[in-house]
Amino acid sequence: MSYDVIIAGGSVAGLFCAREVAKAGHSVLVIEEDYEVGTPEHCGGLVSASGLEDLGIIPSTKTLDSQIQTAQLCSPSGTTLDINAKKQNVIVINRRELDKQIAHQAQKNGAEIKVKTSLKETKPNQAVTSAGTFDCKILVDARGVSSIIQKDRTGTLQSAQYEIYADWIQKGLVEVNFDSEKYPGFFSWVIPAASGIGKVGVAGKGINAIQAIEKFLESKGKHSTIRKVFAPIWVNGPIDDFVSGNTVIVGDAAGQSKPTTAGGIYSCGVGGVLAGKAISSYLESKNPDDLKSYQKSWNQKFGKEFEKQLFARKMLERLDNPTIDKIFSAITPEMISDISNNDDFDFHTTAIVKMLGLKGSLKIAQTIFGGEIRKLLN
Ligand SMILES: Cc1cc2nc3c(=O)[nH]c(=O)nc-3n(C[C@H](O)[C@H](O)[C@H](O)COP(=O)(O)OP(=O)(O)OC[C@H]3O[C@@H](n4cnc5c(N)ncnc54)[C@H](O)[C@@H]3O)c2cc1C
Repeated sequence: MSYDVIIAGGSVAGLFCAREVAKAGHSVLVIEEDYEVGTPEHCGGLVSASGLEDLGIIPSTKTLDSQIQTAQLCSPSGTTLDINAKKQNVIVINRRELDKQIAHQAQKNGAEIKVKTSLKETKPNQAVTSAGTFDCKILVDARGVSSIIQKDRTGTLQSAQYEIYADWIQKGLVEVNFDSEKYPGFFSWVIPAASGIGKVGVAGKGINAIQAIEKFLESKGKHSTIRKVFAPIWVNGPIDDFVSGNTVIVGDAAGQSKPTTAGGIYSCGVGGVLAGKAISSYLESKNPDDLKSYQKSWNQKFGKEFEKQLFARKMLERLDNPTIDKIFSAITPEMISDISNNDDFDFHTTAIVKMLGLKGSLKIAQTIFGGEIRKLLN
């Protein structure tokens, strides 16, 4: 069998790419190694409604779990800051359903999807899969962190995320807990799907994620665990080359999730869309520059923001608990109200700058990081 494009990985990046290639009239096969698109789910499901809209998705009733009202940030000593998230229109989606919704869009445009089929090997213009060898003009690597980790292990953190039932989970309230000893360079989180149902997770540099999540849950109180996921997250930003010969790399496989939070539904999804458009142009023009335009357009949208996010996460790695506490205590209600009203969930380094007080009275971060801090401000 022969296809214009074969895509390995049937999740957000691969499926959006397939939708765009099929929409332009080219033949495309998506192979997904799992038994079902959308499983096993390893995602909190937190995403901006505007991001999804940009990707051409209006969540179906099955896909949408809930709307976030408040993001509560907690310092190591227990100070909390509540950011009103209504304006940022952040929602919690069910990833099992979102991936199926995108798969359906791709299929309606003409893409073919095969589950329980994995990419075994690539040869020039051929994909060797568990279901046989297929000819193709372009191969898309959308295999997620499992692909990038084969090239570089240093950019990952181990995470643990449990789906739980607990009376203390409040609908509409996302919790983010900073503690440089428990979660170095990252945080723990609670993402509600509904009242009493949600996902709790931890990640951090060099931590034992199982121990860390068990301790976090112990501190929160009574709960029932219904699912456990242990997965690496990529926090090192994009790889150097999204295109190599006739292989195009998209999504987490290309390092397209946020260096601050590892959130990737939107930025990986956009990677898939832009790659799909560039591949379609290339198939028509045969001009390699058309293929390369994918990386340029992704960088135009996210390059600068991701550079700042990388710097912000390096700063977080260097902050100790007393300094995090000091920063929290210097954040004023006016700063919180400014962030609530004016900042963006997907491009959030302006909010980080405000919280560090870089443009206000607090100069703690400047004292620690000196001239380097300009990287965040530019
Ligand atoms: C614990 C956790 C919580 C997260 N929470 C959020 C969140 O709240 N919001 C957010 O925006 N992002 C979140 N993310 C990140 C988000 O899940 C990813 O950025 C996003 O799923 C990346 O999409 P992708 O399509 O690039 O890769 P993936 O979703 O990882 O998909 C890769 C696909 O490739 C398949 N595959 C792998 N190898 C092969 C092969 N050889 N052949 C065929 N198929 C293969 C896999 O089965 C998988 O379906 C979270 C991640 C983790 C780990």
